[in-house]
Amino acid sequence: MPDNARVSIPSAFLQDLLARADLVEVVGRHVALRKSGANYLGLCPFHGEKSPSFTVSPAKQFYHCFGCGAHGNAIDFLMAHTGAGFREAVHDLAAQVGLTVPEEERSPEQRAREAAQRRAQQTLTELMAQAARAYRAQLKTSPRAIEYLKGRGLTGAIAKAYGLGYAPAQRRFLSTVFADYQDARLVECGLVIEGDGDEARRHDRFRDRIMFPIRNVKGEVIGFGGRVLDGGEPKYLNSPETPLFHKGEELYGLYEARSAIRQAGCALVVEGYMDVVALAQLGFGHGVATLGTACTPEHVRKLLRFTDDVVFAFDGDTAGRRAAQRALTAALPWAGDTRRFRFLLLPPEHDPDSYIRTHGAEAFAAALAQATPLSRFVLEVAADGCDLATAEGRARAAAQARPLWQALPDGALKRQLLHELADLAALEVRDLEQLWQKAAPPARGLARASRPAAAPPGRPAR
Ligand SMILES: [Zn+2]
Repeated sequence: MPDNARVSIPSAFLQDLLARADLVEVVGRHVALRKSGANYLGLCPFHGEKSPSFTVSPAKQFYHCFGCGAHGNAIDFLMAHTGAGFREAVHDLAAQVGLTVPEEERSPEQRAREAAQRRAQQTLTELMAQAARAYRAQLKTSPRAIEYLKGRGLTGAIAKAYGLGYAPAQRRFLSTVFADYQDARLVECGLVIEGDGDEARRHDRFRDRIMFPIRNVKGEVIGFGGRVLDGGEPKYLNSPETPLFHKGEELYGLYEARSAIRQAGCALVVEGYMDVVALAQLGFGHGVATLGTACTPEHVRKLLRFTDDVVFAFDGDTAGRRAAQRALTAALPWAGDTRRFRFLLLPPEHDPDSYIRTHGAEAFAAALAQATPLSRFVLEVAADGCDLATAEGRARAAAQARPLWQALPDGALKRQLLHELADLAALEVRDLEQLWQKAAPPARGLARASRPAAAPPGRPAR
């Protein structure tokens, strides 16, 4: 969000908005509240607690937590709880109370277009919510799907927390859910596949799969991941790119993990949605996963709204190693001096789920605690495949290190790392600097590709 966002929204409007919004209702969408005297009381969403110390005052329209000191108004709450920027939170709240945000720098045409876009997205979101409800209901009636989840060690409580469902095998199950199966919006939101425009060949995208709803940080279902129950192909199927769902930006499980991330003080990035749910079942609720795509700087940016400490945990196989290197590239542009990124590569035969089942939760927690810091992982990746006993090998390591180092933001970490990379290459720091400055800048390619713009172009951040 641009910094000038706050001044571009008139303060009279903000006052009006806060006066119209009911904080009890706004908070109540995210936190279970009960009346207690003049106030409402609930478990604080910002710190872990067993007895409620989070109060909402309807008279003052303020919330306050006696445990952690969190407090503020409805806009503050939305920003803190959903990780939204100021402008996004204002728009969100305005939509909830039926107001339109006046923004001076926007022309009436622009505003009308945006409003239409928001309405269209809202309709798609409603369709997705309806489908998610239907899939959840189907899960209850499918002994086979229930057995599958039980076989993976999942309880009903976790299935409920993650909203898991089941898409039956019928070709057109959704025609029993939606009044108009020919509705083009069902195709637009990725639920239905248009059979070459032939109405008779139209069918559901997800059939005979365990359904993992993908929710944005507001809790709206924006896509689905579907996993086969037995040997079918493909094993995992995700929603396509739609106006709601952009897989390069969305993290599975982030909505569900927010409280656990705050409690754990860090987020855990794993490879797939089954890992996320299995980890939550085993007591690690702070897991999230990318969706059939490598980790991008945009994913990392989204996570950093909730924590400054991120651990990437990947399988120890070749694919896992590659994923870890991609995650490193995505994290580098954000690796300022106050943030911490760590990398854990499990033994080749394990994913997080199987590791915990074999070695126990404590062993996994210990492994996480000893995950490789970003600075050391940079050295490892730089030296990958290089024989450091030879000058050629050291030169190659320096060449491999260059784009990684250059992607780092300037700061103490970057400067220290330069020393360590010079050691690795057996060069003087000054020589290495000179070498990297002198050479034409071909390596900028990686640095630039991995360096995100201050604000992502085109779309407002979600
Ligand atoms: Zn609190």
